[in-house]
Amino acid sequence: MTYQAAAGDVRPVPDSASGPANERSAVIDLDAIRHNVRHVAAVASPAKVMAVVKADAYGHGAVPVARAALEAGARWLGVAHISEALALRAAGIEAPLLAWLHTPESNFSAAVAAGIDIGCSGWELDKIVLAAREQERPARVHLKVDTGLGRNGATLEAWDSLVGEAMEYQDEGLLRVVGIFSHLAVADEPHRPETDEQLKAFREVLAIAEDAGVDPEVRHLANTPATLSRPDTHFDLVRVGLGIYGLSPFEGQTPAELGLRPAMTVRTKVSHCKDVPAGQGVSYGLNYHTAGASTLGLIPMGYADGVPRVATGGPVRVEGRNYPVVGRIAMDQMVIDLGPRGVASGGASVLGAEAVLFGDGADGGPTADDWARAAGTINYEIVTRISPRVPRHYINEGQAEGQGGAG
Ligand SMILES: *Cc1c(COP(=O)(O)O)cnc(C)c1O
Repeated sequence: MTYQAAAGDVRPVPDSASGPANERSAVIDLDAIRHNVRHVAAVASPAKVMAVVKADAYGHGAVPVARAALEAGARWLGVAHISEALALRAAGIEAPLLAWLHTPESNFSAAVAAGIDIGCSGWELDKIVLAAREQERPARVHLKVDTGLGRNGATLEAWDSLVGEAMEYQDEGLLRVVGIFSHLAVADEPHRPETDEQLKAFREVLAIAEDAGVDPEVRHLANTPATLSRPDTHFDLVRVGLGIYGLSPFEGQTPAELGLRPAMTVRTKVSHCKDVPAGQGVSYGLNYHTAGASTLGLIPMGYADGVPRVATGGPVRVEGRNYPVVGRIAMDQMVIDLGPRGVASGGASVLGAEAVLFGDGADGGPTADDWARAAGTINYEIVTRISPRVPRHYINEGQAEGQGGAG
């Protein structure tokens, strides 16, 4: 038997009082989530919004984000794994819910039993039908076609026969083809022609399916960038992940320019502040040396918290200024160079000061995009990899069932 630690197993109990006083936390603003969902829903209308909450809602917390997204008008939820969908059902979430990435080990029976819609790229069909027979309940299936991404989805060559087989099973009452979908490859680069080609291919496969008698509730193609830049890709439903979290999928366009508000702020407290002489080497490898006598601030987060080790130079905001991380980022900690302060002789220490790695970027504060640049990656990865070691703290939770209104 393999032992898999649940995320909750490794979450530390906050040492200090709950709330923003925590030693370190990822603060998730559920009002920002709701704002972003409403904004995306207005852009997509009359198409409906599927809030994509895979990977623990890109690190934001699947259950609270799913609830906030549904409150704000998302009609569907989307995840990659059936196990992620089952966790949402276990939390009492009953909205239409699609899971699209499977292995032969996936629990299709549990998905059918829980009324989870199942993405099907081909081989899954027999497993899904087996599960439906077992559960004596028709499965809800979204057929997935590869229109050019070259990842999951049936090839165009296999589409005819997949649709034909699915319809035979539908006639037998074993499943219902609820949706037809595909995924875009380059929608974040709106000038590229491949999106047009994928759209054309998608229209063709829809026509084939309709000729075969498929009458889907939802046809869906658009991710966040396509939702924001290509109304012709909206069809009946848009699958929005990144935009729900308030981040921009486009190089050179800020969330604010897109009407979005970043929902996650990662912050901690400075855990040491000391004067050092000129030439002080900093952190493993001694790759950085102070230019002159200087004061170093120790930031108690590192790669075990999900800060990429390669992201030296990433900004940390302390007392209204952004300081680049100097030297190597370690497992638990990293260092900023504050310049000479003379704390030993009464200069201002920043011990215990609030240190923000990234947030909504207001007032020149650092952003997930800044860290993405420092790490040579994308904002998706920065927020998603913030580890379970960092407690999530929710603000603006609103009127949750069974609780008083926290505002
Ligand atoms: C992750 C994912 C999405 C969401 O993409 P964003 O760019 O975050 O909006 C949509 N569809 C599929 C199939 C996905 O895997």
